[in-house]
Amino acid sequence: MGQGRWSARLGRFQRRDGFWLWIGGPVAPGAAATTVGRIVLIRSGRENDAVLVRHEAEHVRQYRQLGLAGFLVRYVADYGRWRLRGYPHWSAYRRIGFEIEAEWVSRRWARSLTVTPSR
Ligand SMILES: [Zn+2]
Repeated sequence: MGQGRWSARLGRFQRRDGFWLWIGGPVAPGAAATTVGRIVLIRSGRENDAVLVRHEAEHVRQYRQLGLAGFLVRYVADYGRWRLRGYPHWSAYRRIGFEIEAEWVSRRWARSLTVTPSR
């Protein structure tokens, strides 16, 4: 991939299993990555964070299951519900059902990669 002005400004795309990584794409403020449908926008330098990418891949699966609108409506409603109960932004975010599921799936996946020494 070129390192010219355009690629530096717009980021670059990388094909993954069932989705695209948009490295350097416009991620939500304060987040390392943001998934919209089958596109995972991720901060440059985080694309090799396998646990993070696995977390976002779970969001891709959730989008596929519910559709773009179905996912977003439930996601925002869940977030809003916690905010209305008085939780600050990050606390409300961590309580979103889709986030809990993606965290659980990616952590379980990471644990499954841990090799037990055989000696
Ligand atoms: Zn997430």
